[in-house]
Amino acid sequence: GATAAVAAVSSSSLIFLGTGCSTALPDTRCLIRPSTPPCAVCSTVLSLPPDRNPNYRLNSSLLIDYCHDDGAHKYILIDIGKTFREQVLRWFVHHNVPSIDS
Ligand SMILES: [Zn+2]
Repeated sequence: GATAAVAAVSSSSLIFLGTGCSTALPDTRCLIRPSTPPCAVCSTVLSLPPDRNPNYRLNSSLLIDYCHDDGAHKYILIDIGKTFREQVLRWFVHHNVPSIDS
């Protein structure tokens, strides 16, 4: 989705990579063949850029950034969907995630 937890360097955190449904939002079916009246959620996605739009949501996915006592980080990925590439581009770079450990 458009939001993600803020990761502190020296602590563990949860990074929400996506909070949408399996089709992600906007649903391409709603964009290609709008209903009458148009779907309120998907049609409003076009009015704001993805990073400022709460209705722009990627597949549900969570990344656990676990910080050990020695400061070393391990990254545990829960669930992965077809929007994973965009999630990596948006959040892995933003949070300096170097790898997935599990
Ligand atoms: Zn829709």
